Amino acid sequence: MTRIAKLPPYLFAEIDAARRQAEAAGRDVVDLGVGDPDRPTPEPLVAAMAAAIRRPEHHRYPSYAGSPWLRAAVSDWLRRRHGASVDPDRQVIALIGSKEGLGHLPLALLEEGDEVLVPDPGYPVYAQSTLLAGGRPVPYALARERDFLPDWDRLGELVTPRTRLLVLNYPHNPTGAAAGAAELRRALDFAARHGIALAQDAAYLEVAFGGARPPSLLAIADPARDRVIELHSLSKTFNMTGWRIGFAAGHPDLIRDLGRVKSSLDSGAFGAIQEVAVVALGERFEELLAGVLAPYAARRTALTDAFAAAGVEVFPAQATFYVWARVPGGGGSLAFCRRVLEELGVVLAPGVGFGAAGEGWFRASLTAPDERVAEAARRLRRL
Ligand code: PMP
Repeated sequence: MTRIAKLPPYLFAEIDAARRQAEAAGRDVVDLGVGDPDRPTPEPLVAAMAAAIRRPEHHRYPSYAGSPWLRAAVSDWLRRRHGASVDPDRQVIALIGSKEGLGHLPLALLEEGDEVLVPDPGYPVYAQSTLLAGGRPVPYALARERDFLPDWDRLGELVTPRTRLLVLNYPHNPTGAAAGAAELRRALDFAARHGIALAQDAAYLEVAFGGARPPSLLAIADPARDRVIELHSLSKTFNMTGWRIGFAAGHPDLIRDLGRVKSSLDSGAFGAIQEVAVVALGERFEELLAGVLAPYAARRTALTDAFAAAGVEVFPAQATFYVWARVPGGGGSLAFCRRVLEELGVVLAPGVGFGAAGEGWFRASLTAPDERVAEAARRLRRL
């Protein structure tokens, strides 16, 4: 079987097609399916871009690893915000969004047939990039009984001599579960015991609410010694999904090898965007972040109130801009989402689209304008 043929089918295709059909028929559809912030990038960052784009040095190829001043800003930010210490020269690399880093990481780590433990449910890219690198993704189930944290005993049973990497994603898409320091320490012990690398997808690390402050793995581990890599993104933190900027930090060997893959395949992130990232990670970080996160609170309340009124069980998440809830009546998530679209005109993401263990659940995204989320909430009360 070719690598392309091994890629799993896109399970949201059916809902996408049904949405297009409903819209073509003139129906008013509220889309809570995709996680893509509706609000603009904060004005100070747009202003920084307007100035940076005029600097001719950015019109030439950027540095592969990210400019030294961006890597220094990342290292400073990790220390200030998370108490983590990394060498900007050897332990930080710029990414063209965290998806790019997640996509390339398996090429840096795997030989044909090597295995990667990936969360189920989970962001599909971990499995897809493993398959494209000739590896074998081995899903590990996350269950409500354990608050969608790994079951370490069962995870141990999945390890084979071919296992090379454990992928974590906390805060977790699609459930919104967050991992505390104790859980990350357990992950670190597990990876060390089995002699495998540990990658933590931290794309939602800053998208926390209700006072939660999820820790960085880089503050729990000793990234100069432990084989860990954490992938960060400015996409969700600053409403910058379209800009494509993120970074990875971790063990020098992993950063070096990821850099070797990247310099073979891409030519780095646009220099002007790197300048904007420096501003975003600078002294105004907390203030800008607070502005970005503010709208989600009322939207979350609107949706969770609607689900409560309809008797739908919502997972008490601590982070992300998603609401993860159980399909009422216990049926299949795809059929449920199809029905909600047909009857209520609201697009939800079926849990099974994130993996077999997501079956029986669905995800609603809070990244639609306030009045659209309120409208969806009104409709969902009738579930
Ligand atoms: N990780 C997770 C869990 C995500 O949900 C996403 C985007 N939806 C990404 C990584 C990639 O984000 P980006 O490439 O924009 O940084």
